[in-house]
Amino acid sequence: MIAFDNSYARLPAGFFTRTAPTPVADPQLVALNRPLAERLGLDPDWLAGPEGLAMLSGNSLPDGSAPIAQAYAGHQFGGFVPQLGDGRAVLLGEVVAPDGGRFDIQLKGAGLTPFSRRGDGRAWLGPVLREYLVSEFMAAAGIPTTRALAAITTGERVIRETVLPGAILTRVAASHIRIGTFEFFAVRGDVERLRLLTDHVIARHYPQADGALGLLQAVVAAQAATIAGWMGLGFVHGVMNTDNMSLSGETIDYGPCAFIDAFDPRAVFSSIDTGGRYAWIEQPNIAVWNLAQLASCLVPLMGADQDQAVEQATRAVHAFPAIYEAEWLKRFGAKLGIAAPTATDGALAERLLTLMAASRADFTRTFAGLSDGTARAEFADPAAFDPWHADWQARIATETDPQALMAAANPRRIPRNHQIEAVIRTARDDDDFAPFHRLDAALHEPLQDRPEWDEYALAPTADQIVRRTFCGT
Ligand code: AMP
Ligand code: MG
Repeated sequence: MIAFDNSYARLPAGFFTRTAPTPVADPQLVALNRPLAERLGLDPDWLAGPEGLAMLSGNSLPDGSAPIAQAYAGHQFGGFVPQLGDGRAVLLGEVVAPDGGRFDIQLKGAGLTPFSRRGDGRAWLGPVLREYLVSEFMAAAGIPTTRALAAITTGERVIRETVLPGAILTRVAASHIRIGTFEFFAVRGDVERLRLLTDHVIARHYPQADGALGLLQAVVAAQAATIAGWMGLGFVHGVMNTDNMSLSGETIDYGPCAFIDAFDPRAVFSSIDTGGRYAWIEQPNIAVWNLAQLASCLVPLMGADQDQAVEQATRAVHAFPAIYEAEWLKRFGAKLGIAAPTATDGALAERLLTLMAASRADFTRTFAGLSDGTARAEFADPAAFDPWHADWQARIATETDPQALMAAANPRRIPRNHQIEAVIRTARDDDDFAPFHRLDAALHEPLQDRPEWDEYALAPTADQIVRRTFCGT
């Protein structure tokens, strides 16, 4: 018995359509996240059994589920699309965990919905495994993120450029409410539903927030922290459209995301991001742009004096850089072993990043290598690293325990693009999921130095480098 309490599905008409998942031919469990199941108050053994599999595949609905597809709009690469919505995801409901936390349980790849447009409502195995690995790594690294509860194969084929195995990801999120959800009602001039949505999000995510302005301020702060977290891992989200930016501040929609190997601040991987709009270095700016869209949606709710409302909303969005800078400094300070970093320490971190970019040093290995003296070897021009290293050594001489800070802030392993692609290839071609499980286990403990996981700490060789990633469709 699952403790469903479907608050979003109790909102009035217009927020969603009631849509059940479409059953699949032959579901097989590929991965089950047992610790997450337990945290949610779900019985992992039940989930792994026939009834659980029936739920995870959409073949039968658990008691208490009220399946829906959520409506939303969104700015995609800057262009507004008034109607998107869940085209291949069905929200089974919200589970209230034993600790009182409320979590959406969503099946991604669950079949056609009224929002599917030209899509088939399905997902193939590759993006499902990719999202599973990356979102679980992000959680292990302490970055706010949606989670992966399970992955199944459907026994059905999906047609992309080739014929591929179908799969479904069970995604867990604080909610799936996006900036695009607000835009959906704002563009329709539906102030009444905007107000209901605002009240819902405040009650659910920011109970201390005072009205629409308070909500905006809270989301700005949450997103600033999340994006500073991305930057500290060399993470490139890839599709920071407003429909892929969550009100809860969780990282969501891991389509073409990637981690940087050889550092380049302008790194872009997504095949459709030809202009580099969502490059690593642009992510904080894009967040501000997206939050400005949220601000415009909320202004009509911010009192009768609309000029004043615009001014307050603008100020709230303009608070992002200062919050972000502080979060960035905290993270990069810790990465250098500095407990209470100042602006001078920030400049020291920037200097290192500039050297890393000039030498195309591996982002993860350089920071991890500061602890054990192997960072220098990551630089094409090791001599260029030496003056910086001397300054850094002098700086941390006054720190109490820089090694402990660095060990907690610099993962040994990240989900490297070439390793993700390798496990997907083996799963797809040989129906062998052992490499996937091994990589998943290694990524769940990204800070631990374990010899049996050394291979995952390696940068790609020249012929392994992945330059392009693709949206999850
Ligand atoms: P995404 O790029 O995953 O953020 O998706 C953008 C929009 O396209 C969302 O509304 C998705 O639900 C929809 N979409 C993506 N893939 C499919 C698919 N295979 N079938 C139907 N809709 C899809
Ligand atoms: Mg999306």
